[in-house]
Formats: sequence, C-alpha cells, structure tokens
Amino acid sequence: MVCIFASKLRCYVDCTSFFLPSLEYSKVMVPIQMVDLKRQYAAIKSEVDQAVIEVMNNTAFINGKAVTDFTTSLSRYLNIPHVIPCANGTDALQIAMMALGLEPGDEVITPSFTYIATTEVIALLRLKPVFVDVDPITFCIDPASIRKAITTKTKAIVPVHLYGQAAPMEEIMLIAKEFGLYVIEDNAQAIGASIHYSDGSVHLTGTIGDIGCTSFFPSKNLGAFGDGGAIFTQNAELADKIRMIANHGQSKRYYHDIVGCNSRLDSMQAAVLNVKLKFLDQYNQSRRNAATQYSRAFENNPKITTPATSACNTHVFHQYTLVLNGVDRDGLVSYLAEKQVPAMIYYPVPAHRQQMFTFLNLPDVNLPVTDWLTEKVVSLPIHTELDADQLDYITHHVLEYINK
Ligand SMILES: *Cc1c(COP(=O)(O)O)cnc(C)c1O
Repeated sequence: MVCIFASKLRCYVDCTSFFLPSLEYSKVMVPIQMVDLKRQYAAIKSEVDQAVIEVMNNTAFINGKAVTDFTTSLSRYLNIPHVIPCANGTDALQIAMMALGLEPGDEVITPSFTYIATTEVIALLRLKPVFVDVDPITFCIDPASIRKAITTKTKAIVPVHLYGQAAPMEEIMLIAKEFGLYVIEDNAQAIGASIHYSDGSVHLTGTIGDIGCTSFFPSKNLGAFGDGGAIFTQNAELADKIRMIANHGQSKRYYHDIVGCNSRLDSMQAAVLNVKLKFLDQYNQSRRNAATQYSRAFENNPKITTPATSACNTHVFHQYTLVLNGVDRDGLVSYLAEKQVPAMIYYPVPAHRQQMFTFLNLPDVNLPVTDWLTEKVVSLPIHTELDADQLDYITHHVLEYINK
C-alpha cells in the first residue's frame, strides 16, 4: 500500500515541482520521523510476529531458546567467542566495570561528549570519571587527551563509538597496553561498524577492547521492541565473571559467590533481535546511503560541516550529525519543525556540565572541543526507511533556512 502511494506521489512531485515554490510536505510523502520503526517493522512483520508467537506458545519467557539462538547468532556475526546478553546498554557498561574488579576511587577515562549512561555507571560504582576531549572531526575520544589524563590511579578507558563512527581503537589499544589499562568499548551506537588497522586487519567495533558493550534500545541500529543489551569479550575467564554478575553472582543456582545484579535479555526481545540481526548489514547500508545523499546536498556549503567518513572505518550512522557554522541552530530546528521535519541536539549538555557531577568538583576541566560541539551540532532524521523524496525534502528545507 505504502509503496503504491509513495510512487504515485513521486510522479506528482516530478511533474509539478517546477511550479511549486517549495516542496509541499503533505502531498509529497509519508511523515518524516527521526527513526521510523513502524515502516521498518512492516517490512519484516510476518517473520517477527511468527518469532514472537513462538515464544508465547512455548512460554519460555526468560532464558528461552530464543535467547540462546540470538546469543549464538550475535557471537557469529561479531566473530567473538563470548556474548552475554543483558537487560540494557547501561547495565552492560555497569556489569563490564564490575567484572574488571575496579575499586572505588579508581579513575576511568571517558569522553564527556556522549550519552550520559557511559559516564553515569562510572560514578554509580564510586569510580572517578575523568572526562577528556574529543576529536573535532570524528567527535570520538582524542588519544592525545587520553595520554594527558593518565595518572597512577587510572585503571580503564571507555571509548564511545559516537553516532556510529569508530573511535581510534588502534591508538587507544596501544596507550592501554603501554600503561596497563583496561578498555571497555561503548558500542551502543555502532554495532556493525568496522575499523581497518594499519597492518591491514579489519576489526569490528566492540570486539577490540577487553570488553565491548551494546544496547538494543529500539532506536539503536539493532533495536529490540523494548530494552536489551549485550556484553562481548574474547576472554573466557572474564566472560564467566560477567555471566555470574549479571545473574546475582551465582554460577550454581542459589550459591552466590559475589555481589551481582539481575540483568537479563528476555526471550521476546531476543526473538525480535534474532530476526533483525539478519538485516543489520542491510540496515547499516541504508543508513549510509541516506547519509551519502545528505552529504552530497550539503557539499561545499561553508555553513555546514558534514560528518567525516574515512577509508579506514565504516560509519554506521546511528546519527547523521552536522556541525553548523554561523547558523542560528534553534532557529533552524524551529523552522524544520514548522516543515514537519524533526531534528535533535545530541547532546545539549555534555557530561562534565551535568548537575549530577557537581560533587566531582570539576571547575578545572577544560574541554573546548566538547563545549564547541555542544553548541554547534544538530542531528537530522536517519533510519533505515528514509527515501529519496524525504531526503530531498529535508535537505531542501535545511538549505532554504541556512542560505536565507
Ligand atoms: C543508548 C546508549 C547507552 C545506553 O543504552 P540503554 O540500553 O539505553 O541503557 C549507552 N551509551 C551510549 C553511547 C548510548 O547511545
């Protein structure tokens, strides 16, 4: 239905756009969302429904076959021996830090320019977040800033593959080795992204550090129909510890050796994810195609910096984020809202300026790139279902505002 509708209207636009002063939204296409989960679901509905019904029929809602199947598929996809599913991405990070045996007061180096979960769990475990700056081009943690932040108390680095762009893991792993630090990758936004090392080897994000963490929040590149998360490691001993912690510190039922928590991926979510995992590469490619069309439209505009992509990394565009130069950002967002184009600021307040961290007493923390990006970034709709008409409509209105 949607297809017939859309193609008819495309003809309408093609034939008449010459006469239109600007593209008319209501006549042109399906509503634009930041993430269009409805249309994504529609495309795989029968398979997903069948998988969920199977869980309902066999009633193994917790740790059922769907969970084992998904864990095995994800482990194969990532080519990593140990995948431990859990309740959400925040838990994944928390459990990872617990498993490494970090102790109160230990310092953990992390970017401030990230979603709050990355930094929140550090504080929750009474570890000390040490915020460092990001690279102005990739928006990911800057290795030179990591080096400067290392003290005798530093125990771990938590790089974030922000917006779907891989952090510079090759350099980060060298620093970690030099100083004997753990690396926990926050891969919540970049599942399926890869990095080419200088020796020619290719590595998937989340599989490089001691532990990788991800989230299956519905809007993530691999999203469930609710909450979910997973933890990855190459290390069997660490995997056992992670499994224990996520399961009340027990390896034998009702014998609790260490203090843990209760963090599970339920069978319904696993069933959905197991279907969607098959489409992950295709989904990431759709996101890249949309990003390419955006960047082409904004090319050479002095007021817009489009996201950097490199020959060495595959960007999976969890977000498509512009840096604006000399543009009233709030004005642009309101103008787009009037045109029924959503746009978001990820993130309006960096972690080191959040009220929750006032107890850390951080007046000396100077993160100029983070502060600059916080003021200048804007993210446009990006998802697996964006079509060429929608993208034309969005870029047309962005440029109309910016060039006015
Ligand atoms: C989404 C996200 C998380 C947390 O995931 P939840 O499943 O929502 O707990 C952590 N870090 C980053 C960078 C994220 O984008």
